Amino acid sequence: MRRPMVAGNWKMHGTRASADALAQGVRQLAIPDSVEVAVLPPFLHVERVLEVLADSPIAVGAQNCAKEPWQGALTGEVSAAQLADAGCKLVLIGHSERRQLFGESDELLSRKFIAAQSHGLVPILCVGETLEQRQAGRTLEVVSEQLGSIIHELGIGAFFNAVIAYEPVWAIGTGLTATPAQAQAVHAAIRAQLAGESAEVAQGMRILYGGSVKATNAAELFGMADIDGGLIGGASLNADEFGAICRAAGC
Ligand code: PEP
Repeated sequence: MRRPMVAGNWKMHGTRASADALAQGVRQLAIPDSVEVAVLPPFLHVERVLEVLADSPIAVGAQNCAKEPWQGALTGEVSAAQLADAGCKLVLIGHSERRQLFGESDELLSRKFIAAQSHGLVPILCVGETLEQRQAGRTLEVVSEQLGSIIHELGIGAFFNAVIAYEPVWAIGTGLTATPAQAQAVHAAIRAQLAGESAEVAQGMRILYGGSVKATNAAELFGMADIDGGLIGGASLNADEFGAICRAAGC
């Protein structure tokens, strides 16, 4: 039995005051113990959010980390060691905005993935196709390549302590959501790919869906056999809406 997870990606939103207020709101949510919940604030707000959520079951993570695990002359980067030292538990790897806008390659992402794990952070590996790729019928091929390249670099063993998020690029921040059946088909393919390497990894892997998840569509998506929760962008900026999504994962 996989424990569902819901993670809120706050992206580059907020001020110190609004991040504080959002964290306070999240802290007060009534969320079933059966659901693992995390928030991923901008780097600058991580420490304050950690303070607000101290002694709560809600984990704090980051949206990115450097490929170098420790420290170094990498101006503007934040390392996994620094995130772990601050108290982060998870980190997004390969969000489509990082892949598309910052040109992050699968090879670079495998280094970030292992850097995160080397400091005890759980990587949430994001995969997903663009609209063009979906329309060309290439969805499963693209997702399988993204996942396959990390497996090839690091081995399936690296996936014992990781989470995967399937996020169709065309559904992120657009208000368009994959139908439950569309999402389930990709999630099942991801699990089948993992099963080809290790039945144990495949069975235990949480595969989150992300892309315009809201309180109104969450239950239907999370009700699918291979969807183990969600990675939530816009809707995670409203504590009440985020709480309703978290509760939908516990049904
Ligand atoms: C995301 O940023 O990972 C995301 C899924 O965004 P949204 O929920 O706003 O589509």
